[in-house]
Amino acid sequence: MKFALIRPATGEQALSGLAERLRSSEAHVTFRVGDQKIQTPCPDADYADAFRLLLAELDRLDLRGDVRVVGHRVVHGGERFSRPARIDAEVLEQIRACIPLAPLHNPANLAGIEAAQEAFPDAAHIAVFDTAFHQTMPEVAYRYAVPDAWYREHGVRRYGFHGTSHAFVAGEAARMLGRPLTDLNLVTAHLGNGCSVAAVRGGQSVDTSMGLTPLEGLVMGTRSGDVDPNLHDYLARQAGLTLAQVTDALNRESGLLGLSGLGSDLRELEAADAAGHAGARLALDVFAYRLAQKIAGMAVALPGLDALVFTGGIGENSADMRARTLRHLALLGLTCDEDRNARTVRGEAGAIHQEGARPVLVVNTDEERMIAQQAADLLGGQA
Ligand code: AMP
Repeated sequence: MKFALIRPATGEQALSGLAERLRSSEAHVTFRVGDQKIQTPCPDADYADAFRLLLAELDRLDLRGDVRVVGHRVVHGGERFSRPARIDAEVLEQIRACIPLAPLHNPANLAGIEAAQEAFPDAAHIAVFDTAFHQTMPEVAYRYAVPDAWYREHGVRRYGFHGTSHAFVAGEAARMLGRPLTDLNLVTAHLGNGCSVAAVRGGQSVDTSMGLTPLEGLVMGTRSGDVDPNLHDYLARQAGLTLAQVTDALNRESGLLGLSGLGSDLRELEAADAAGHAGARLALDVFAYRLAQKIAGMAVALPGLDALVFTGGIGENSADMRARTLRHLALLGLTCDEDRNARTVRGEAGAIHQEGARPVLVVNTDEERMIAQQAADLLGGQA
């Protein structure tokens, strides 16, 4: 759970933070107030407990009354939402109707909305969808080669996720390049616990690596990304696994965790690789190779490539993973300047390509700010 109290006009953050390792003995909430960072341990806390701690902190700082608009990140908006929406009974119903498309995420998002509506009954509540930015994808990019009726009757198509982040970093990249976003062709790589790449043409998404669900595409922390579509059938017959067991393993026991047998946290794997752990090395190599393949694939959706953009916890911090990935991408004229790359970590944004080569940028994503901005834009003068 991430949160920020933002003045959209200036971007000023009165309070921000995140809750991590929830439902474990190491659960804690980190609050940032100005330059101050306060870590509150809350062993075994769940989302509702973490939200109560946030409310208590807002009360302690006497800020609860300042909350006029609550922008909610909602993972799946299906084909219904191509922009943010003010939450009313009908919008809630439509978010609920998208639960089959995101059975893990949308119910959690709905629970968050309900808790926030109770805590901030006088505020306007706005849903900002992870899928919305990708609704500009052309049919050639969003259709699967499966029976047409599956699309018509069940919405089986590619939707894409992380839209708020891809949109935000595309805008930031344009600013860094000093060129209008409408003129630019970008590939953006959002690499966090979940990972996706997008092709952004003139500020609009024209393709992305995630599909019907956030399982498709890249290797992620615990998610497999692309596998053979026959896998469920094969494992059912060979290992007697049920559909649910395979789906669960592909979501929670695969990716970096599955390959390494160690964990899903890239920092841990980089340390283990340095100490000679073969599984960690394999996990990092597969992650980088498949990422490079997808980046190259995204370039097909564009008439040219003005820049590659890295963002997310891994994209912003792991100079090693960026270098590993760029080694596979010489064909696209993408390079890595060792010094610039090593310097561009921990909140430092900037260019990491070799002088004169095609731009490769590191941009710090700020989904909270983008959500606040979009919510404020939707409300116009009322915010
Ligand atoms: P996010 O979901 O954007 O918070 O990203 C989480 C991922 O970023 C995890 O795999 C972390 O291990 C990784 N990450 C965060 N900081 C670093 C760092 N300094 N070096 C390498 N990976 C990092």
